Amino acid sequence: MRKYGFKTFSSNLRSNPKIFDDIKEYVGAHKDRMFVEFMIVPGTLESELSVLKDKFFDIEVRIHAPHHLLGFDAGNKGLELSNRKMFELSQTAADILNAKTIVVHSGCGQGIGTIKETVRQFNLFDDERIVVENLPLGDDLKLSANTPDEVLYIKEHCGCGFCFDFSHALGAANYLGIDREEQLLGFYRLRPDVYHLCDGMIDETSDKHWHFGEGNYPLQHFVKDYTDGDAYITMETGQGAPKGIEPWIDDFEFMLEIEK
Ligand SMILES: [Zn+2]
Repeated sequence: MRKYGFKTFSSNLRSNPKIFDDIKEYVGAHKDRMFVEFMIVPGTLESELSVLKDKFFDIEVRIHAPHHLLGFDAGNKGLELSNRKMFELSQTAADILNAKTIVVHSGCGQGIGTIKETVRQFNLFDDERIVVENLPLGDDLKLSANTPDEVLYIKEHCGCGFCFDFSHALGAANYLGIDREEQLLGFYRLRPDVYHLCDGMIDETSDKHWHFGEGNYPLQHFVKDYTDGDAYITMETGQGAPKGIEPWIDDFEFMLEIEK
């Protein structure tokens, strides 16, 4: 059976600690169909990771390493040391929380240079839990790993797994003029290890992180045709700091409904 994940940031331990209790309670009651994904932001203390461990010891956890908005760019040689520091904190979190995968973004910028540098740094990280995520592309957002070929190159040169983000794939396809279904099928054929899913506008380039039902994505088609029956799908829904988990519960129920 597919499992669906609530996603939150480790920094919410300081801004909204109650949300972790709510997540634990709800996900704990739906363990056979749910997991959680934590973005480990720089500055998260090991004592905070222990708090998470105490709460989520019997719940499946997946990890997301920091991305470019938090200063991580595996395509930039000059950032190698700070990238490594951020990744090591995610590794520690994955160790403590027993996570099977760590989502890591490919480098910023375009072209084979940033992809080759990403491969080099991923190989230095040397962690078989790394899953590289395909990234969006637009006029004001130039990131790599926009096509199945680019993700395949990274996978083949460092042996990592793959996190298939639907919104990123659609945005990049629209920007590059690639047929959307061809793009999604191409990514699906790379046998993703985990998925990211939200709603959005099918012909736009931006990743809206909308709740399910707020956009016009054919979500049932996506889930049924481009994810396996035992897929791990993180629901990347909602913008900004979460106030409560009710909208996410609606999203989870939406997924169970369209699976029928
Ligand atoms: Zn991501």
